[in-house]
Amino acid sequence: MCASGEAANRETGSQDGETDEATGGTPSHVVDHARIEAAVREILVAVGEDPDREGLLETPARVARMYAELFSGLHDDPKTHLQKFFTEEYDEVVLVRDISFNSMCEHHLLPFMGKTHIGYIPKGKVIGLSKLARVVESVSRRPQVQERMTEEIANLLVNELDAKGVAVVVEATHSCMTMRGVRKPGSLCVTSAMKGLFRSNQSSRAEIMQLICGNRTN
Ligand SMILES: [Zn+2]
Repeated sequence: MCASGEAANRETGSQDGETDEATGGTPSHVVDHARIEAAVREILVAVGEDPDREGLLETPARVARMYAELFSGLHDDPKTHLQKFFTEEYDEVVLVRDISFNSMCEHHLLPFMGKTHIGYIPKGKVIGLSKLARVVESVSRRPQVQERMTEEIANLLVNELDAKGVAVVVEATHSCMTMRGVRKPGSLCVTSAMKGLFRSNQSSRAEIMQLICGNRTN
């Protein structure tokens, strides 16, 4: 596939001095900040740290705000981003490539990040391109596994858009592979979900893979 060997984007969104606006508009009442703070404090004690030393005093509260942001997708139904269509007779491939995302692996609560490519063949209905990015955002901002994320995005488009074909390819680097366990930096995990025409028709599938993987500069 199109393993482009991209450098891992190390942005985890966990900068100091975050404000509530940084939670991406998530109402803070749906996340129990006090409970997260107590739990983080417990973890610090459990690993042998002193949660009362100066550098760690604000950490539990900061982690609580960060989790509210990273898991904001739990309070968002991705379907809501796919309700506004345009009626178009266009029936060739629509592809949005390189939609970047950050997610959290649900097995280790460590980030995995990369790019999502979404292609579809419309059946009279097309969707605003930014809506596809919103769907990726909603599905990725929750405890996830890459395989399920890929399948979820594809099924959402099949169900809501009634497209003739849907192709979703996700490429990601997983922190749980690079910083712990087997420690293999640079490894890229690629998953794909092909529906409708992209599943049943070999040449449609070859075309979309060529469009996704072709002419890569990185
Ligand atoms: Zn993991």
